[in-house]
Amino acid sequence: MNMNFNFFIPTKLIFGIGKINELGIQNMPGNKALLLISNGKSAKLSGALERTQEQLCKAGIEYAVCANIHENPSKEVVMEGAAFSRENDCDFIVALGGGAVLDSAIAIAAMATNPGDLWDYVSGGSGKEQPLVNAPLPIVTIPLTAGTASEINHWGVITKTDTHEKIGFGGDERLYPTLAIVDPELMKTVPAKYTAYQGFDALFHNTEVMISSGINIMSEMAALSAIENIAKYLPRAVANGNDLEAREHIAYGSTIAGIAMQLTSTTAKHSMEHAMSAYHPNLPHGAGLIMISKAFYEFFIEKHACDGQFVKMARAMGIEKADKPGDFISALIQLQKACGVDDLKMSQYGFKPHESMTLALNARETMGGLFLANPCEMTDEDCAGIFDKSYR
Ligand SMILES: [Zn+2]
Repeated sequence: MNMNFNFFIPTKLIFGIGKINELGIQNMPGNKALLLISNGKSAKLSGALERTQEQLCKAGIEYAVCANIHENPSKEVVMEGAAFSRENDCDFIVALGGGAVLDSAIAIAAMATNPGDLWDYVSGGSGKEQPLVNAPLPIVTIPLTAGTASEINHWGVITKTDTHEKIGFGGDERLYPTLAIVDPELMKTVPAKYTAYQGFDALFHNTEVMISSGINIMSEMAALSAIENIAKYLPRAVANGNDLEAREHIAYGSTIAGIAMQLTSTTAKHSMEHAMSAYHPNLPHGAGLIMISKAFYEFFIEKHACDGQFVKMARAMGIEKADKPGDFISALIQLQKACGVDDLKMSQYGFKPHESMTLALNARETMGGLFLANPCEMTDEDCAGIFDKSYR
């Protein structure tokens, strides 16, 4: 077991049911907030927007609401949000929403105070890899979904539509949120289908960390705890969104994945899914990950790349007597069935069989770094082969 690790998350994390009620008594990192929400109804329907506004008033914080963040957020939306922030003299961001909102907040925080274009600062693809000149705006995160762990990360995934690049922007330590409030009560209104997609995203952050070449004693502790909680409670959260006990455990697994991912990188499965939704932007991230999951893990099982890690995960997922890597695949398929997501088809989102190599090359080109975290080598042909095997 690797005993070396570096850990740094400078975010005050407040976790638990009803904790949104404590926002107003926190030290805020500014006086006027850019209150960032999605272009959908979720923040209003769940009551989260109203409750957040109340708490900001209580804290004596002014705010301007920006409500145009969509799924798989684009560079344009980030640049608009940054301009909106400057026009309204906001000095920090309160990001209230799912992964798209939280991810956008990271990029908007940077672009509100820095010159030029977001892609000047992106590493990977056609990004120019420049360092940020000015300190970004401080960020407060309040997730309304359990999936991305963006609430405690300093990365945001943004899409450049014209070049089909979906890339994680960030990495500057000043982009970590200063405060995160994770309140499972705010997640009750997430529809069943999205609860499942997001829950599997959270699961895969942890399972990818587990097979990653960078696994260490601390990330394994975090990842196994998260996997156990997600596998046990996700079917309940999907079946009944008001099951707060289930929501609480899924939110825990999702946020803890943020800790695991800070310690150990995810693998090429995330590069591969980003390629999928860069070409098919209506594909939810979690759904794309589910579609390729079986073939992806089987690739490493066939190569005996990390047999022991698969057995540990199978046990954490409820197969107590697991003794072979394939037991993980059984647990995975069983969980997909229990959550009603075992029949997702790439063809339903417009994928064509001949796209596999395009996707494989895009995955390597835009997020090649994650391939280094794979437990054994994966060529472009191997990668295309996983897309082929997953195609339905
Ligand atoms: Zn993810």
